[in-house]
Amino acid sequence: MVKPATKVRAEQYLNYIGGEWVAPKSDRYLDNRNPADTRELVGRFPASNSEDVDRAVDIAAEAFRTWRKVPAPRRAEILFKAGEILIQRKEECARDMTREMGKVLKETRGDVQEAIDMTYFIAGEGRRLHGYTTKAELPNKYAMCSREPIGVCGMITPWNFPMAIPSWKILPALVCGNTVVIKPAEYTPLSTYNLVSALIEAGIPPGVLNIVAGRGVEVGKALLEHSKVRLVSFTGSTEVGRMIGQACAATDKICSLEMGGKNAIMIMDDADLDLALEGVLWGAFGTTGQRCTATSRVVVHKKVAKKFAGMLADRAKHLKLGPGLNEKNDVGPVINEEALESILGYIEIGRREDKARLICGGHRAEKGDLKHGFFIEPTVFSEVTAQMRIAQEEIFGPVLSVIECRDLDHAIEIVNGVKYGLSASIYTQDTNRAFHAMEDVQTGIFYVNASTIGAEVHLPFGGTKSTGNGHREGGTQVLDIFSEWKAVYVDYSGKLQRAQID
Ligand code: NAD
Repeated sequence: MVKPATKVRAEQYLNYIGGEWVAPKSDRYLDNRNPADTRELVGRFPASNSEDVDRAVDIAAEAFRTWRKVPAPRRAEILFKAGEILIQRKEECARDMTREMGKVLKETRGDVQEAIDMTYFIAGEGRRLHGYTTKAELPNKYAMCSREPIGVCGMITPWNFPMAIPSWKILPALVCGNTVVIKPAEYTPLSTYNLVSALIEAGIPPGVLNIVAGRGVEVGKALLEHSKVRLVSFTGSTEVGRMIGQACAATDKICSLEMGGKNAIMIMDDADLDLALEGVLWGAFGTTGQRCTATSRVVVHKKVAKKFAGMLADRAKHLKLGPGLNEKNDVGPVINEEALESILGYIEIGRREDKARLICGGHRAEKGDLKHGFFIEPTVFSEVTAQMRIAQEEIFGPVLSVIECRDLDHAIEIVNGVKYGLSASIYTQDTNRAFHAMEDVQTGIFYVNASTIGAEVHLPFGGTKSTGNGHREGGTQVLDIFSEWKAVYVDYSGKLQRAQID
C-alpha cells in the first residue's frame, strides 16, 4: 500500500516499473495539493519523461510473453485478491481521494467501491472470456473464434474518478492477458497509486503492471509514440481525445476514447417534481458537477418550468459548500485554479447571454477558510435557450441550465441538439413517453425517473457522437476493447476444400 501522506511531511512517490519503485530519470516531481485547501501538500509525484516511458514499455512488452500464457482463471484470482485488499482499505483510500480530488467522502467511498465492484466483476470474467463455435459452410470442418490478448496497453486517465476509471481499464486489460503502462492524471495520482499498490500486493508479477506519473504532454505523448504500445485507452476531454485518436491512427494503434458530455434531464408535465428535484440536485452538484455524466441541462415542460426552476433555486442555495472530509458538507471544491477560472468564465458568459436569468449562486465562495480552496457556489440559470453557449458546451462544474420545452418531441430535439451523447434521463409517469424517449435520445446511457449519473459496472458505459469512438467500458463489452478476435477453422476432411467455391 502506498502510505498516505500526512500534513506535516508529504511523501515523495516513485514510478513502479518492472516490479520496482524507481525515481524518474528527470529527478523532478510535481506537487499534488488539496483543492479544498491548497496549503496542504498531499504528496509529490514523479514528473517523468520519455526515458521512463521507454523503459516501462520495453519491460511490459517482455512481461507480455509470459503473462499471456498464464491461464485467465489464474490471472483473475489475483484480481479477486486485490478486491479483498481494497475492501480492507476502502475508508483510507476514500480519504486520500477526498484530499487530492476534493469530492465529498460519500462520493469518494463510491469511487473506491466502483473499483471493488469492477474487480469482482472482471475476476468472474476470467472463467468466461467466452468465444463461440459455429457451423462451417463445408463438411468435415470446424469453426470457432476466441479472444486473444493484444500486447502492451498504454492508459491515460482523468482526475475526476481517479480510482474507478483506472480500474475500468487496468482490470479488463489484465484479465485478457495484456500488460499495462498507466499514466495517472497529474492532479490525482495518489488514488491510482492506491489501486496499483493493491494489485501489486495481490500478486501481479513484475513488469505486468507499471505506473509512470507525469504530465500529459510528456508521459502521455511518449506512450502515444512508442512503437511497442499496441493499444491506447484514454478517458478525458474531447479536445485531447481527438488529438490522441489522430496520433494512434498514424502508428496503427488500437485506440479507445471516452470523452466529454453535456447531459440532460427531461422533466415532463406529469412528472413527480419532488423526485425530479432530488435527481437534478444530485446529478448537477454531486462531484461539484465534475462528472462526465453530470446533469448540465434540465429540459422542463413549459407547464411546470417556472415552478420547477423556483424549487431548484430554493434547494440549491442551501447546499453546504466546504471541504469534502467534513461529512456535513454537500459540495466540495473544483479541481484547480484553471478549472475555477474556466467555470467562472462560463458563468460570466451565461450572465451576458441574451435572456438567461441567474437564479442561484454565480460566484466563487471565499468566506473564511474557503478562500484557500477552489469553491464555486452551486449555480442555476433559468430561461436558457438551446443554442446558448452555456447550453451547448461542457462546463464541467456546478452550473446548471434550465431550458423550457413545448412537449416530448421538442425536449428530445433539445437533448439531441449538442455534439455530445453520453447520458440523459426523463422524469414522467407515462410509460409510453418514457419508451419513446429511450428510443429516440442519442446517448449511450439513458435513465427513467433517475438522474443522469449512477452507472453500474456490469453494464456498458460510454457515449455516442463526440463523446467517444464507439467503444464501451464496463459490461462484458469492455472485453472487446482489450482483446482481439481470432477465427480458427479446423478442416478434418483430409482434402482441399475451398470456401465460397466448392
Ligand atoms: P484532459 O483531457 O485534460 O486530461 C485527461 C488525461 O489526458 C490526463 O491524464 C492528461 O494528463 C492527459 N493529457 C493531456 N494532454 C495530453 C497530451 N497532449 N497527450 C497525451 N495525454 C494528454 O481531461 P481531464 O481534465 O483530466 O478530465 C475531464 C474530462 O474528462 C471532461 O471532458 C470529462 O467529460 C471527461 N471524462 C469522460 C469520461 C467518460 O467516460 N466519457 C469519464 C470521466 C471524464
